Amino acid sequence: MGNERQIIYDLIEQLGGFENSTVVLKDLIKFLNTDQITEFVEYFTENHDITIPGYEEYELCMDCQDTYEINEAHTCK
Ligand SMILES: [Zn+2]
Repeated sequence: MGNERQIIYDLIEQLGGFENSTVVLKDLIKFLNTDQITEFVEYFTENHDITIPGYEEYELCMDCQDTYEINEAHTCK
């Protein structure tokens, strides 16, 4: 398989580069299915160490019964 992905970069280039690529992003979001979107956002947030407010994942500590954010270190009180 060649570098067929290059076509999207060429498209963006044609639209004036990444500064003007919001239109591509918007259509890409419409085009992708829900699973792909979810997978991508999970990949992105992990890769960039971002937590989206409202989407934090909580874990229940079995020792102190306290909940803590999954990305944060937990010490029992
Ligand atoms: Zn605990």
